Amino acid sequence: MDIPGPINPPARLLMGPGPINVDPRVLRAMAAQLVGQYDPYMTATMNETAALYREVFATANAHTLIVDATARGAIEAAFVSLLEPGDRVVVPNFGRFGHLLVEIAQRCGAEVHAIDLEWGTVATYEQIADEMARVQPKMLASVHGDTSTTIAQPFDGLRELCDRYGSLLYADVTASLGGNVVDTDAWGIDVATAGLQKCLGGPPGSAPATFSERAVAAIDARRPDLIRSNYFDMAMIFDYWSDRRLNHHTEATTMLFGARECARVILEEGLTNCQGRHLLNGRAMLAGIEGLGLIPFGDIEHKMANVVGVHIPDGVDGDAVRETLLHDFGVEIGTAFGPLAGRIWRIGTMGYNARQDAVLITLAALEIVLRRHGARVLTGGGVDAAYEVYATA
Ligand SMILES: *Cc1c(COP(=O)(O)O)cnc(C)c1O
Repeated sequence: MDIPGPINPPARLLMGPGPINVDPRVLRAMAAQLVGQYDPYMTATMNETAALYREVFATANAHTLIVDATARGAIEAAFVSLLEPGDRVVVPNFGRFGHLLVEIAQRCGAEVHAIDLEWGTVATYEQIADEMARVQPKMLASVHGDTSTTIAQPFDGLRELCDRYGSLLYADVTASLGGNVVDTDAWGIDVATAGLQKCLGGPPGSAPATFSERAVAAIDARRPDLIRSNYFDMAMIFDYWSDRRLNHHTEATTMLFGARECARVILEEGLTNCQGRHLLNGRAMLAGIEGLGLIPFGDIEHKMANVVGVHIPDGVDGDAVRETLLHDFGVEIGTAFGPLAGRIWRIGTMGYNARQDAVLITLAALEIVLRRHGARVLTGGGVDAAYEVYATA
């Protein structure tokens, strides 16, 4: 065969909904040599990583660790370990990842009660309270910020509801953690799972997760052999991360190094500062979009800090615009799924790319590409509006 050349990807500015350009510090950490699975350096690194993610999740949960999988894998690990056939689950379903929670819970044999919502909206407290009263589920499972719609579900009052019916509270914080306030303990979340490739500034393939004592007790109650996945058996993964170090899989050393560095980068900046940086750059991007004369998508009051949906102007071919942006400027923005396919673009300002230069370059490039594709845009309006946000910050 002709052996293909070495990996040498083109330079891209990844301004979609993830993955994003990885922080160079994280790439360097991932270039480190391996140590053995039980090397004291390895076990110390696992413990340090767990401690770092307790800070990132704002939790005291002892059972905070890394699931070696993409974010979807951590959702599956949590659900397959917690849910037995017939268990009732309530899911507010307001985007692609709400659908994913429904689907994974159904595959676990759960009786899923979805609250189906229009994409771009969130569930009201009353909608969730009514469904909880009717179903009295084992678990209330919600996406926090759904990148498919850019919108975040408020968690106010959900813990109280769960206490009323003895339910566990699960949150998918993949898209929001690090870039938006996610207060695991203050919000009373029992299980939260994430991924590195959004606001955490790392690559996909590693999923930080945290479990309350209540969630651990629910998983322990299913021991020894009822969990229908070996790889995603959280009871076994807890043992592996505990001081007993019972062998499960080989911890994905390189991803662990990456996850540890992501958390270090965030905590050195300060978690609140990092959230503030996402808020500022997200506001600048939103102002820039409006400054170009484009219309943002969805309930802006509930928009996540780190991603904005943009209505594709009438008569403009959304995919052609994305192609030109990528080909001529090396800038990637996101397409959309489901009911929003062909209707909006999604532009992210997250992790390493939540920066002024990345925002200004994206807005300038978008203006020029839109004009070349026949859209009417306000000359300089995007960059000027973004500058205005930075000037008044
Ligand atoms: C991106 C995302 C995921 C999926 O992450 P993968 O790493 O692709 O498995 C899950 N949930 C939410 C809310 C996301 O934004």
